[in-house]
Amino acid sequence: RGIKVLPLNGRGLLVVLSGPSGVGKGTVCSFLRSEFPKLNYSISATTRKCRPGEIDGVNYYFLSREEFLARREIGEFLEWAEVYGNFYGTPRSAVEKSLSEGKDVILEIDIQGALKVKEIFPEGVFIFLLPPSKEELERRIKGRAADSAETIRRRLACVDEELASIASYQYVVVNSRIEEAAAQIMAIITAEKCRVSRN
Ligand code: 5GP
Repeated sequence: RGIKVLPLNGRGLLVVLSGPSGVGKGTVCSFLRSEFPKLNYSISATTRKCRPGEIDGVNYYFLSREEFLARREIGEFLEWAEVYGNFYGTPRSAVEKSLSEGKDVILEIDIQGALKVKEIFPEGVFIFLLPPSKEELERRIKGRAADSAETIRRRLACVDEELASIASYQYVVVNSRIEEAAAQIMAIITAEKCRVSRN
């Protein structure tokens, strides 16, 4: 008789990487993507404009507002959120396909989205990326050349509320150095895959 201990029952692990705006989720996730290409990275849909260097279908699926709303209407998104005037959503089918095939998936999404995913997948692993300090987060937000003064003001106004949501997560990783943050995230994933009990 085989040993009947199958963590996750053969399904993949759902990892949600979230945290306040400006903390560097996107940068850490791009680093993970280049260093650990075997993991599956969910590609979100968005209505925001494509930035220089971004590729449709790689960084995001860039959609018009009409297209996004039509897809949202038919339930194509696992979760969606409006972030600073643009819509973002996680395509449901790619995530479900990977998990059912036993492949792990990483979602890099904002805090509102992460809370919605937690309702659907309470067995997921929720990692909160924290800035080294509030001052450093403000510096990073202000340093984003792409953002208008109004966007910066809105982002700064949300910081305290965003930091308070940390209680809904199982893990915290401080993003001081990208390489270190990425190594900690990989260590969390490794440990989670070895877990027998999920409660
Ligand atoms: P950016 O426009 O800078 O790429 O992303 C803005 C914010 O949207 C970031 O906080 C990012 O994590 C979040 N985001 C990206 N994709 C998704 C998604 O599919 N769902 C949600 N809820 N947030 C997302």
